[in-house]
Amino acid sequence: MNSSPLQSYHLPLDLVSALTLLAEHEGSAKIVAGGQSIMLLLRQGFLSSETFVDISCIPELSEIATIDEVVYVGAAATYSSLESSPEIQPYSVLTDSLHVIADPQIRNLGTIGGALGHADPSLDIVPPLLCLDANVVLKSLDETRIVSLSNFHQEYMTADLSKDELIHSVTFNNLPGPHGGAYEKVSNVEGGWPTVGVAAQVVLDDTLSIISDVKIALAAVGDTAIRSPCMEKSLIGSVISMDSISKSSELVSQDIDPLDDLSGSAEYKSHLAGVLSKRALIKAINRAGGSL
Ligand SMILES: Cc1cc2nc3c(=O)[nH]c(=O)nc-3n(C[C@H](O)[C@H](O)[C@H](O)COP(=O)(O)OP(=O)(O)OC[C@H]3O[C@@H](n4cnc5c(N)ncnc54)[C@H](O)[C@@H]3O)c2cc1C
Repeated sequence: MNSSPLQSYHLPLDLVSALTLLAEHEGSAKIVAGGQSIMLLLRQGFLSSETFVDISCIPELSEIATIDEVVYVGAAATYSSLESSPEIQPYSVLTDSLHVIADPQIRNLGTIGGALGHADPSLDIVPPLLCLDANVVLKSLDETRIVSLSNFHQEYMTADLSKDELIHSVTFNNLPGPHGGAYEKVSNVEGGWPTVGVAAQVVLDDTLSIISDVKIALAAVGDTAIRSPCMEKSLIGSVISMDSISKSSELVSQDIDPLDDLSGSAEYKSHLAGVLSKRALIKAINRAGGSL
């Protein structure tokens, strides 16, 4: 346990000032966005106090916009601002997840960049963003990098982020064709972290009877949030039927690696993953205009 005192807290009003602070402190400065996770770690003594750069007052980091078919979400946009943004409403896989994160107080402060920086495999917002093939835009004073979210979290609680970089924004493309998405979660307590969470995003062909593309991603079943390639492969090109959805949902257990913990046994989580995959898929297909 480390309980060293807080040294300095900065509140820059523009991006360059924030990046300059990160560069000047050569890796010892920590970014604070909503403070929901970092302040907990600090209070519990898991994080040594150094220099803190609070990015919540930088206007460009809270912007949400669609430009040329690409949705841009600034890293400091809160869950609540996403929930009420017209730009986000077409992406029900994302809005479903936003509605079930913790409680309104946490959603008013917690940010998309804070979630991705925290890199917990149980975060509700990550599977929907994986289904949307999101990219993470990273900035330092010298460089802008764009990393696919699927490569951004490769290990438990670890993000591909240098100490002089911050997450600037998250982007994803508008979806072609008839599409629908859904996020399903089971939690041991109301408003709690997911025991398992499953996101599904489908694109149907013009007849609304064949799945032309599908993405399934899960939270809380491994070291990072993950996609389910076995399930996806079995569904792409298939005619929509309850039988094919049920059979494919059973395949999800091949792609996950849940652990026994206080929220449930690995066996229970594997079972839940199958049940929630089926539920999310049915909802996503119906939202895309298909009928089940
Ligand atoms: C009581 C409680 C219940 C919760 N329940 C849920 C739940 O049910 N589902 C769920 O998904 N989540 C839940 N959460 C977690 C919540 O989603 C995260 O705390 C929140 O998203 C983190 O965002 P933040 O802006 O508060 O991040 P902060 O706490 O400010 O930062 C988190 C980490 O990210 C880094 N960081 C922040 N912004 C950036 C950036 N722009 N660039 C680089 N690094 C950055 C920080 O340095 C820190 O390491 C819960 C949290 C609490 C406290």
